[in-house]
Amino acid sequence: MFKRVLIANRGEIAVRIIRACKELGIETVAVYSEADRGALHTKLADKAVCIGPPSPSRSYLHIPSIIAVAQMTGAEAIHPGYGFLAENPYFAEMCATAGITFIGPSPRAMQLMGAKAQARAAVMAAGVPVVPGSEGVVKGVEEALAVAREIGYPVLVKASAGGGGRGLRLVHSAKELRQALQSAQREAEAAFGDSQVYLEKYIEEPRHVEFQILGDREGNIIHLGERDCSIQRRNQKLLEEAPCPALTPELREEMGQAALKAARAVGYYSAGTVEFLVDKYGRYYFIEMNTRIQVEHPVTEMVTGIDLVQEQIKIAAGMPLSLNQEDVVIRGHAMECRINAEDPKHDFRPCPGKVTRFHLPGGFGIRVDTALYNGMEITPHYDSLIAKVIAWAPDREMVINRMRSALEEMEIEGVTTTISFHKQILDNAFFRRGEVYTNFVQRRLQVS
Ligand code: ADP
Repeated sequence: MFKRVLIANRGEIAVRIIRACKELGIETVAVYSEADRGALHTKLADKAVCIGPPSPSRSYLHIPSIIAVAQMTGAEAIHPGYGFLAENPYFAEMCATAGITFIGPSPRAMQLMGAKAQARAAVMAAGVPVVPGSEGVVKGVEEALAVAREIGYPVLVKASAGGGGRGLRLVHSAKELRQALQSAQREAEAAFGDSQVYLEKYIEEPRHVEFQILGDREGNIIHLGERDCSIQRRNQKLLEEAPCPALTPELREEMGQAALKAARAVGYYSAGTVEFLVDKYGRYYFIEMNTRIQVEHPVTEMVTGIDLVQEQIKIAAGMPLSLNQEDVVIRGHAMECRINAEDPKHDFRPCPGKVTRFHLPGGFGIRVDTALYNGMEITPHYDSLIAKVIAWAPDREMVINRMRSALEEMEIEGVTTTISFHKQILDNAFFRRGEVYTNFVQRRLQVS
């Protein structure tokens, strides 16, 4: 096992990883930007080193500084968390060159899944259903028009290097397609430095259902069931739950096997997530694979009892998986609410500021993953997630009640948050019946 690990991240996920390291008897090195002086992760780690100014490109994304700190402090491995450098194959390669273990999959698997147009082709060849669409990247307008004619409008233009719901364009007609293609390419170039786009049929009112994968370096690979992440706003997840209320045991089994095929197609190891859309008729389609630990991983931990971050670290250290597929048992129901410093009444605009006072909920079945502390300044430099409230209960109805009561207890003063918005979701009768799909928030909620 590693003696010392560097955490190349901040906020709640840095704290989450430090805790996992401590439990495994590993020393931790935190890095932080000038905006995060005094942040919780710097206090909990054994050592903390400032790596630059607030701007991510000069701190949390600055590869030379992070590798230099790892070498200077004798860290043998780096955990990238999510966001920042987590899905950057170049960073993983730089770590290897410096003799440091990257806690994640191989650079090759990251690269293959990171190019989404190519990933579609790779998993399709492995027998996994993908959303009908272009075979790979679309090169020009004529090709796009031909593909769209074949699959039928509406279609989505998607950036091959895309992520976080950015660079998606919904197109209703051939007339619109011409222009959408160009503007999507421009936007993708600006956001990801890669203008490649591909086409997918627009699936109506789908659920977003994703499978958690865990694989070791010896080729053992299992899935830990699914999460339903249909509650989204602008293609970004807000609330997630496990298991998905709509899956039959047969469909779960089939999709789990499909997820494993997709992961095997790129020789995947470490923790990863295979994402699908499921339509009204129970047909499922691969959309992408995320090659990192995800924000919503705790809901899977709550229903399986498996610590995903500890597993990631053990796999990176070369240990084989400690469990088989048969050992994975889904118990009860779990849900996560992402609490953001945003104003739901004003189009979810970010609300930076100082947290003057807060009270976190607790009790049986409640877990809060956060890096909040008194007097914390929420800066505009980073994303607005400030806490994740996770609830577990024997069934879905009880987990909703438990979450509702936890959010009632929770108080955050000084900044506006999305707590009230989550309460509205939990009170919605359609949500309570489990009737959710990715445009639920748009269709079923009036933000008040
Ligand atoms: P990103 O990597 O930017 O998150 P994804 O491909 O994972 O992009 O898609 C994000 C979300 O966009 C999905 O959860 C879903 O809500 C919506 N979406 C993506 N592809 C389609 C599609 N073909 N039809 C309908 N909705 C889609």
